[in-house]
Amino acid sequence: MIHRKIVRTAMLQDYTGLKETLFALLEEVAGKGYHCVSLSAKEENIETVKALCEKAVSCGMGVCLFTFYMKYQYRYLSHHPDQKLVSASDFQNRQGRSTGIWGCPFNPEFKKRQLLFLREVARFPGVERIQINDEAYLPGGACHCETCRGAYLADFGEGMPVVLNPAIEEWKDIKWRRFLEWTIERWNGVHCEMSRAIHEINKNIKVVFQASPSTDLWRNPWSTGVDLSGMAEQLDGLSTDPYYTFHNAPFFSPAETYLSEWCRFLKGAAGDGKLAEIIPQGFSHPTFTRPLGAEDGIWSAVIPPSCGVDIITPFTYSLQKISPVQKTYEGAFKLDLYFEKAVPLKYSALVHGARTEIYKRPLPASTPLSYDGTRVLPVAQSLRHTGIPYGYIPDKGLKDLNNLFSYRVIILPEINCLSQEEEKGIREFVSGKGRMAVLGCMGTDDGTGTKKNNGGSLLQELCGIKVTGETGRQQRFRMVENLPFMKNLYTVDEKIDERYSNGTCKPLFTLDHCVDAEVPGDSRIIAEFLDENGTPSGRPAIVLAGKDGNLLWFAGFPTHVSKNEAYGTTVRNQSHLLFPLLVEWFAGEKPALRVEGWPPEVPMRKLRPLDYRYMSTFEFFPLEGKDIYMGTIASYFKEPASFAMAADIPPGKRIKEVRELLTGKRVPFETSENKAEITVDMGYEDAAKVFLFRFG
Ligand SMILES: [Zn+2]
Repeated sequence: MIHRKIVRTAMLQDYTGLKETLFALLEEVAGKGYHCVSLSAKEENIETVKALCEKAVSCGMGVCLFTFYMKYQYRYLSHHPDQKLVSASDFQNRQGRSTGIWGCPFNPEFKKRQLLFLREVARFPGVERIQINDEAYLPGGACHCETCRGAYLADFGEGMPVVLNPAIEEWKDIKWRRFLEWTIERWNGVHCEMSRAIHEINKNIKVVFQASPSTDLWRNPWSTGVDLSGMAEQLDGLSTDPYYTFHNAPFFSPAETYLSEWCRFLKGAAGDGKLAEIIPQGFSHPTFTRPLGAEDGIWSAVIPPSCGVDIITPFTYSLQKISPVQKTYEGAFKLDLYFEKAVPLKYSALVHGARTEIYKRPLPASTPLSYDGTRVLPVAQSLRHTGIPYGYIPDKGLKDLNNLFSYRVIILPEINCLSQEEEKGIREFVSGKGRMAVLGCMGTDDGTGTKKNNGGSLLQELCGIKVTGETGRQQRFRMVENLPFMKNLYTVDEKIDERYSNGTCKPLFTLDHCVDAEVPGDSRIIAEFLDENGTPSGRPAIVLAGKDGNLLWFAGFPTHVSKNEAYGTTVRNQSHLLFPLLVEWFAGEKPALRVEGWPPEVPMRKLRPLDYRYMSTFEFFPLEGKDIYMGTIASYFKEPASFAMAADIPPGKRIKEVRELLTGKRVPFETSENKAEITVDMGYEDAAKVFLFRFG
């Protein structure tokens, strides 16, 4: 049974300091079908917030309180500068006098004050959720104030390491890695204390950490101290606010996929059974890349629930209301009753190696050159552009065998650091014939980046593939086997390149960040690397291995573009499209609800077939429930396209209808054998369509 409740929260803020104006809004939002309001609770307005809570309850709504902590305590901290967070730079260059404006989360006085405050607001009527420590993190991963240095001294009997711009050398020292582990756990511990204080008063309140989306995927968690999956184990949930016209995150293309990728990632980090709350962008300033339009309202309404996120809280109700966003956003509430009957279809899961990025691949610390930017996001992008359903599993989640077995394929993008429990999970999954696609090495280090004694790896243990070194660079390869799906790989006629660019812009097959490896003699080599002259080298690039042929190994990573070394040109990389085809072939079956022939043909690709900037601007989100499938299509760039969406008809059932839920219109379908198929036409004005396939 699916138990999903989509919660639409109206975030109420008044920007003139007159909280009283919010009373009038409460009835308005209650009448529009919102379930909950969120309010900023600060000491100076606490009585008004309490009265607003009472009024919200009388309007039949719940309340979420934003409670802040390290940030926005400017006046208090100006009187108590000793309670401020001290950066490594301030410690070294300013005798520990803080130049910052945030409080130290570990300072006993500062913390005590907050715990008192949390206990007070937890008593307010109607409070269902409390968001703690709004968008805070530990700059550089640590605080160097007297309290924090004292705590380190007490635990380790020596001074806290102070390193301004840590180099990779630092990570070779176990002391440094232990320091990072210590600081992250200590930071998680503070949030745990806040959660306990709230639960002492009311154990039904859900305590949620409100993370900035810059704290992972973008910045490495060692540099922010924010370990989301670790935090989720101790709290009731996570929330974040990916604003795609504001954060200037160039590694998400189109920029709007910043929202969908964070929805998937947050849902994965929170895990089933915990809350994931997304705060979509509902406003734009003149300094942002564009104003928001009606299409943004549709995306912010349907993409989070399509990714499994149940709580949606645009920032903010009043700001959203002054733009065309709100009308389309609220217009999509009617879909929630369907989203509540379905969950994202589990097909492939991409493992996010938080421990690997913190302890093994810490530098560069920011995307695109970070671990996430070079290992995780290119794989995600490749799946996304080709419409292959995927979700995220944090490395900590590798111990949950039930969850692993609920996917057709688990994808491990160089997961080096694994705890013993996580290794055990992988071992049992593979020996139970679970399918695992591994890119690069796997299981070379323990959970905090100490190499295994014997120099071996879990990869070698499971399938005999021994990684002997890293070439680091991009390498060309060729397919050794002509697998049946190769006929579906989109290719550009070579004559076009000869005519148009004199043979210099032909798409290539390359993998990036490659490793060298010895593979067992009986492995099935699917692709091999080419040497500098383009001659087959016999060195394995893609291998089918494992006792049951259930381990698909890649000696590098698919990327969107390649460099043609001979001419210095940037060209399209076919591995970007090949990787998802391989995953689907390896999975043994197609997703039960799928899009066909992706990426769909669009005028731009037809007109400029060699342009390396081309990419799919559509996204597909399949969901499944009892006797239904739902397929959400988002279109971010107003490109016209037409493609098929097909659903397997469940055994013993017949298809009753297909309906597009935003328009409510029935959609003609064709059935053959055991599948039902529709044609999806996307036009210049279609931001999204949501199809319901109903069986009976
Ligand atoms: Zn401190």
